[in-house]
Amino acid sequence: MNSSEFVGFKDVSKEDLEKKLTLSSFKGNYSSIKVRDSTISYDNFTLIAGPCTVESYDQMMKSAEAVLKVGGKFLRGGAYKPLTFPVPNPALEEKGLDILKRVKEETGLYIVTEALCGKDVPKVREVADIIQLGSRNMHNYWDLYPAIAEQKTPVLLKRHFGVGLREYLGAAEWMLHYGNPNVILCERGIAASHTHDDNARFILDVNIIPALKKYTHLPVICDPSHAAGVSDYVPSLAYAGIGAGACGLIIEFHPEPEKSVVDKNQAISVETFFDVVKKSKKIWSVLHDS
Ligand code: PEP
Ligand code: MN
Repeated sequence: MNSSEFVGFKDVSKEDLEKKLTLSSFKGNYSSIKVRDSTISYDNFTLIAGPCTVESYDQMMKSAEAVLKVGGKFLRGGAYKPLTFPVPNPALEEKGLDILKRVKEETGLYIVTEALCGKDVPKVREVADIIQLGSRNMHNYWDLYPAIAEQKTPVLLKRHFGVGLREYLGAAEWMLHYGNPNVILCERGIAASHTHDDNARFILDVNIIPALKKYTHLPVICDPSHAAGVSDYVPSLAYAGIGAGACGLIIEFHPEPEKSVVDKNQAISVETFFDVVKKSKKIWSVLHDS
């Protein structure tokens, strides 16, 4: 490949990509991100699942049981929620963290939950095994990134829905630059004007999955839930993401989907969740078993 093929990488040349950026300095060996006694890597299928938002102990416990039933290790749920509109925010915040802590202690599951700003990171870190850095914060390089990086906490770095490959590589490089090598990338759907109707919320950019695997050594997981925005589409997008080479899924389900306080339309039922996981694992093994 010659330099002219790196269209759009005006300040990052082919040479930079290959030699200077930490995220691309690899010779085909992908990173394994250690999360306690588990690893997130291309060697095994990763599943992070649960509701969008922590609503109650009962809701999180039922979700945890479903994750355990499919052999999952990571339970998701937001105690802090970034909302698109400034409507009253149902996030339970510190009470939500307490619920996550209790469920974690009782089930042994690892917790993936979001921090919205640097000052919240220490309390989120007390319960989170992986801190989610959400799409809307992808450019928060001077507050959230250093706070998360300070203790090298594994981070699920979601791609902003309005940026291309170059910007997203820059975001990952910022996290590495702050000294945190424990970065998991996540494609969660991109915006295009015609997706903003009642049909689908975003478009899953399957192309970026092999591109990220070409330019970085970091594991990439796929979020079919936010990409779809509609529960009916979630299974297909999950299969597409695994088919495109993602090392796993972060997926939203709810014990009572119609009662979800945030992202209700994309919440799949527990039964659908079981089916999606079963089929995704089959696709995974077709691609990874030699
Ligand atoms: C979420 O995971 O619930 C979420 C808000 O994700 P994103 O930042 O991708 O929109
Ligand atoms: Mn959500």
